Amino acid sequence: MINNEFNNIITEIKNRILLSDIIKRDIKLIRKGREYIGVCPFHVEKTGSFFVSDEKCSFHCFGCGISGNVFTYVMRKDGITFYQALKKLANFANVKLPDIEDIKRNSSEYNNIYKILNTALKYYISNIDIAMDYCNNRNITNTKEFYLGFVPNNNDLYKLLIKNYSKDDINKSGLFLSNNYPRFRNRLMFPIFDNKNRVIAFGGRSINGEDP
Ligand SMILES: [Zn+2]
Repeated sequence: MINNEFNNIITEIKNRILLSDIIKRDIKLIRKGREYIGVCPFHVEKTGSFFVSDEKCSFHCFGCGISGNVFTYVMRKDGITFYQALKKLANFANVKLPDIEDIKRNSSEYNNIYKILNTALKYYISNIDIAMDYCNNRNITNTKEFYLGFVPNNNDLYKLLIKNYSKDDINKSGLFLSNNYPRFRNRLMFPIFDNKNRVIAFGGRSINGEDP
């Protein structure tokens, strides 16, 4: 999903931009048949051995051997990362670049992880009574307001999740260790929400004082 979306954007940018237009901003290009030729911007030379093809969206220098496409050109020329080049070219081509985090959030894999974390939240909340003495002793009275929950020392949550989600997605939720063993046990659990009110993580506080 993430890859598809990116490939579409990359194709869209390549379609909208002529590589020669980008390179012409740096060096003078002279048309030669279906290609352009110029003095290589990547090595010192007097005669041009730098060839640019808009059809193939590629460049090649017979002097220093460098070659690539519009993205690698901008990366090399400006000394920037692929993502920075993508942003720059998207801007140049007037292509709207989606927020990577947004793509991630909306992809099915991430949706499942949100659902898993939300199921965990409900499960933890349903067990809060077990930790009530602890909360009362520490004057924690607003358990509902902060969606506080409790995770007992068993593997019921995993059993609940595996009915509806793949092992892979459950692993990615970060709630379990490699052998499906719960990462949190006997802990007061407090959820951490993102700005769209989705649970993105949990903090856990040990209630028997064994560990932090
Ligand atoms: Zn060169």
